[in-house]
Amino acid sequence: MNEADAGTTPIRPLVAGNWKMNGLKAALSEALAVDEALAEAGQAVGADVMICPPATMVMVLSELSGKGGLQVGGQDCHANSSGAHTGDVAPEMLADAGAIAVIVGHSERRADHGETDRIVHEKVLAAHRAGLTAIVCVGETIGQRQAGLTLDVVARQLSGSIPDGVTAENVIVAYEPVWAIGTGLTPGTDDVEQVHGMIREHLSGRFGEEGRRIRILYGGSVKPSNAVELMGITNVNGALVGGASLMAKDFLGIVEAYRG
Ligand code: PEP
Repeated sequence: MNEADAGTTPIRPLVAGNWKMNGLKAALSEALAVDEALAEAGQAVGADVMICPPATMVMVLSELSGKGGLQVGGQDCHANSSGAHTGDVAPEMLADAGAIAVIVGHSERRADHGETDRIVHEKVLAAHRAGLTAIVCVGETIGQRQAGLTLDVVARQLSGSIPDGVTAENVIVAYEPVWAIGTGLTPGTDDVEQVHGMIREHLSGRFGEEGRRIRILYGGSVKPSNAVELMGITNVNGALVGGASLMAKDFLGIVEAYRG
């Protein structure tokens, strides 16, 4: 159970869907079906639920959902609030469109766009400037894991990506082993527990009580069939879900892990 992992303060889990570069208008019905199901379930679902669609859909999803408390987030943002940055999206724009959070430092951004910890750090500050919660992704590659470097790599990413002075309200950490994303592979429960334990120590060491309450999500091939096991690991406070968040049925099957 997640609630008292860190001591006395309950942590409300989050199940967040990252749609990546998927989602035309027709896909809205999947997101709205999630919102509908949350409305029907009411208090029975003991977790926050979020979908991060492509930027093109943030506003329409924010406007049409909410009946069941579905939250909407962005997938990335620029560090500036406006300017000559063709194709980029400012966090203020995401907030204006109805997002309450934004994913930063996803491994696909780090790999495809050369995003460093320093850049991710700037994006976290930018998200906060716009009033958004930053979902900061960290995780090792398969080579780093095989070389026994997982804890070092993740610790370095945490130190470099998360600015001082953050709170449990404005930062969420997502541990996503790069080799587990979209592959169907997942680490063993002991491995997840070890990395999440280290992340918790890092956060509480730096941020005290706030750090004990910051949510730590696991991401990488979460699906309905493994959600209960993964979400039951100490210091796992929810999931960041890629492929399985695209269809309401699969995503709700994961949310089900938190049904009381
Ligand atoms: C992700 O990319 O954030 C992710 C966790 O993907 P998947 O669930 O498809 O592995």
